[in-house]
Amino acid sequence: MKLSVLSVASEAVPLVKTGGLADVAGALPAAVAPYGVAMTTLLPGYPAVMQAIGAKRNGGRTLHSYNSLLGEPARLVAAKLGGHPLIVLDAPNFFARPGSPYGDPAGKDWADNWRRYAALGRVAADLAGGAVKGRKFDLLHAHDWQAAMAPAYLRFAPVAKSRAVPSVMTIHNMAFQGHFGREIFGQLGLPKAAWSIEGVEYHKGVGFLKAGMEAASAVTTVSPTYAGEIRDPEFGMGLEGIITSRGDQVRGIVNGIDTAEWNPESDEALAANYSARTLAKRVANKRALEMVFGLEKGDGPIFIVVSRLTWQKGMDVLLEVIDHLVGIGGRLALLGSGDPAIEEDFRAAALRHPGRIGIRIGYDEALAHRMQGGGDAILVPSRFEPCGLTQLYGLAYGCVPVVARTGGLADTVIDANLAATAAGAGTGIQFAGVNYRALAMAVSRAVALYHQPDVWKAIQRNGMKADFSWSRSGKAYADLYQQLVAASR
Ligand code: ADP
Repeated sequence: MKLSVLSVASEAVPLVKTGGLADVAGALPAAVAPYGVAMTTLLPGYPAVMQAIGAKRNGGRTLHSYNSLLGEPARLVAAKLGGHPLIVLDAPNFFARPGSPYGDPAGKDWADNWRRYAALGRVAADLAGGAVKGRKFDLLHAHDWQAAMAPAYLRFAPVAKSRAVPSVMTIHNMAFQGHFGREIFGQLGLPKAAWSIEGVEYHKGVGFLKAGMEAASAVTTVSPTYAGEIRDPEFGMGLEGIITSRGDQVRGIVNGIDTAEWNPESDEALAANYSARTLAKRVANKRALEMVFGLEKGDGPIFIVVSRLTWQKGMDVLLEVIDHLVGIGGRLALLGSGDPAIEEDFRAAALRHPGRIGIRIGYDEALAHRMQGGGDAILVPSRFEPCGLTQLYGLAYGCVPVVARTGGLADTVIDANLAATAAGAGTGIQFAGVNYRALAMAVSRAVALYHQPDVWKAIQRNGMKADFSWSRSGKAYADLYQQLVAASR
């Protein structure tokens, strides 16, 4: 059966991105298309999105207008996202703002984020419920807390005469849940019945992600290991009870990568293209990387990091291990931004180790590609990692992942221990526990393996051969949609 699915997210490449969610939301339409799913994406009309779709004030093809969407005028504009249908929520009072999608230029969250993303959820529920002529959907797929009110509106306040539409709630990161005070409830346009433990109420306030998880027909997250981990309080962060109560309906589907964007054989950002058969060409990229990061030229391994600089990502522990890494002949090139204190500490580390540690604070997509193409190993010491994409890019680029054994990192990297090496299966290094000792040992192992060129090359090649394209996961999502639609009819 051919299905029509509405996917709603707060970011999607190539229009707007702050993290892995954007990669996934942008790739999903093409990933599910081969399996009989026509996906339309709904995105907020941030300035970058409005500009990219060429819709200036009141321009573009208007599908639907709201006199009052949670009190503000709004309209839906039809556009395209990588050849697939896109609907943009043009609501200037909510979204025509500078800064990131979620906060002002100084990095402070917008105080009315609850209203901005409740509006997105309301619109998604309207669309899925058939309120807009000519657009019919069989299923709604909501991503993260910003879209999580969509299933809640569908369940508690559906548009008149709409049939029941099943929904999927995908959690890309349990650490971001969208909690707000009780006082907003009256302004959400929900019936009183929604104020309950089975509805939007969470610890006497409103929980957006919690509401979506309760209301959706199925909950997914982005790796099988994370799906298991979030049953524990440490990873579930308060929502473990709902995860447990939903039992087998909570699935983990690993993210794929866009293999057209991330392919070392054709990547235009690289100084030299290469494949698993021509790994020697990588050296040109390594030399280029040394230049960009002001690193001494050398044959020792270059570790790279492309990451948000936060506690989640274990960056504080990496800071502790830097002297050890340099002491055993490693160098580090780091690109990222985030916690100001961590940024400052990395700057200080670079000053302490000139030529050995190179730091770029900021966001630079092309540089991220060049680092994967020229670095020897990518460090991902996350305390928790729902899926993680940078280790997948590392695998594809022969930049050997050194990862904490958690979430999607555990599911996607095969530790090159003796047995795996003998079987020709190892693709990287895993370590257990994000602490000085475990990370320092992992870095030492990486350096030792690097100095066994045949073993190292085999690890690189194994990783490059691994298939992390979207085909398997696209099918897994499509199968889930089919099951839910069949069950709802
Ligand atoms: P998360 O979504 O938790 O930040 P992921 O590993 O799932 O982590 O996705 C991060 C994505 O953002 C990857 O595509 C990575 O390459 C990219 N990224 C992170 N930081 C930067 C940066 N400073 N510059 C360029 N790309 C970055």
